[in-house]
Amino acid sequence: MAEISESAVRSVLEAVIDPVSAKSVVASGMVSGIATRAGHVAVTLEVDPARGPSLEPLRLACEQAVRAIPGVLSATAVMTAERSAPPPPPMPSARPARGGHAHGPAQAAPGGGRIEVSGVKHIIAIASGKGGVGKSTTAVNLALGLAANGVATGLLDADIYGPSMPRMLAVKEKPESVDGKQLKPIERYGLRTMSIGYIVNEETPMIWRGPMVSSALEQMLRDVQWGELDVLVVDMPPGTGDAQLTLAQRVALSGAVIISTPQDIALVDARKGLNMFRKVAVPVLGIVENMSYFLCPKCGERSEIFGHGGAHEEADKLGVPFLGEIPLHLDIRTTSDSGHPIVVAQPDSSHARAYRNIAGRVWKQLTANQRGPRPAPRIVTR
Ligand code: ADP
Repeated sequence: MAEISESAVRSVLEAVIDPVSAKSVVASGMVSGIATRAGHVAVTLEVDPARGPSLEPLRLACEQAVRAIPGVLSATAVMTAERSAPPPPPMPSARPARGGHAHGPAQAAPGGGRIEVSGVKHIIAIASGKGGVGKSTTAVNLALGLAANGVATGLLDADIYGPSMPRMLAVKEKPESVDGKQLKPIERYGLRTMSIGYIVNEETPMIWRGPMVSSALEQMLRDVQWGELDVLVVDMPPGTGDAQLTLAQRVALSGAVIISTPQDIALVDARKGLNMFRKVAVPVLGIVENMSYFLCPKCGERSEIFGHGGAHEEADKLGVPFLGEIPLHLDIRTTSDSGHPIVVAQPDSSHARAYRNIAGRVWKQLTANQRGPRPAPRIVTR
C-alpha cells in the first residue's frame, strides 16, 4: 500500500474552515506539522491558547477529514500552543546531518522533522515505565524472534544510560567505519546491531542530558549502515522522562511495545509509558508481561509470585493488545548474561517459543497496517 502523502493530508485540510478566521486551517497557518507512518497520520495544529476548548470541534473536523482519505487507518490531530519545539542542541562531536535529508535536525518541528532511516521499513520502540523489568532482555529476544520468523531485523541499543547489548550479545569488537563517515553494524545471530556500549567502555560512567540522549540516538540511527531491514528494534532508555519523550517524538516510529511486570506498581509505570506514546501519536502495538510467573528450574513448578496476569488485564482495560507473557526463569537470565540469548541458545524451549510468538504478533500488527485499503470511511453528519 502506498504511504499517505503529506500533500494529500494537506489538501483535505484545505477544506476544513476555521469559523473565526473564515479561512482553512492550512491557509491560516494553523497546521504546523504532518507526520504519516504506515497509514497512521498525526497532524499538529498550532493554536491561540486563548481560544481553548472552543477549538475542539475544529480539531475533530481535521481528524475526520484526514480519516476519510482512502488508506488512512488512524488520524490524530493535536493542538499545541507553540509553533515548534526548539531542536535539541547537537552533542559537541555531532556532525551535521548529511545532505539530502529533508528531515534533518534543523527542520525539527512537532509532528514533522522525524528521523527516518532509509531502507528500514519499520522502527519499533521497546519501552518500559521503569528500569529492571526486563526491557532489554525482551528487546533482544523479540528481535531474535523476528529474525527466526524470517524478518530482516536490526537492533539498536538506545539505552545509553546502561547499554546491555555488549553483554547480552557477547560483543567485544568495536564497530568498523567503512568510509570514515558511517559505522558498520555488528552482526550477531542474524541481527544487525549497534550500541553505544560498542563504542565506549561499558564501565565508563556516562552522564547524559536529555538533548544529548536524542543527539546520540540520532547519530546511531543515521550514521550506521543499517541497509535494508524490515524492522529495526530500538531498546529505549527506561522510564518516561523528557529524554524518552523526545525520542518517541523525534524518531519515525511505526509503533511501541511496552514491557511490564505484573506488579501494580510496575503497571502504573507501564500506563505512563503508554500515555507518553499516545501523546505523540505513536501506535502502541501492545504490552508484554515479563516475569509473569516463577518457573522453578529444578522441579518446573509454577508460582505466581507477583500475582500473574496483571498486564493482560491492564491491556484489556486500556484497549491495547496483550502480546504475551514470559515467565521468570533462571535460563532466561543465564543465557542473556552469557551472551547467547535464549531464543538462539535454546530454540526449542517453551521460552524461545513464547518470544517467537510475541514477535509474530508484533509483525502481524506492523504488516496489518499496510494490508489493502481500509473499509470505506463512515460518513459522519452532525
Ligand atoms: P531492563 O532493561 O528493564 O533494565 P534487563 O533486561 O536488563 O532489564 O533485565 C534485568 C535483569 O533481569 C537481568 O539480569 C536479566 O537477565 C533478568 N531478566 C529479565 N527478564 C527475565 C526473565 N523473564 N527471567 C529471568 N530473568 C530475567
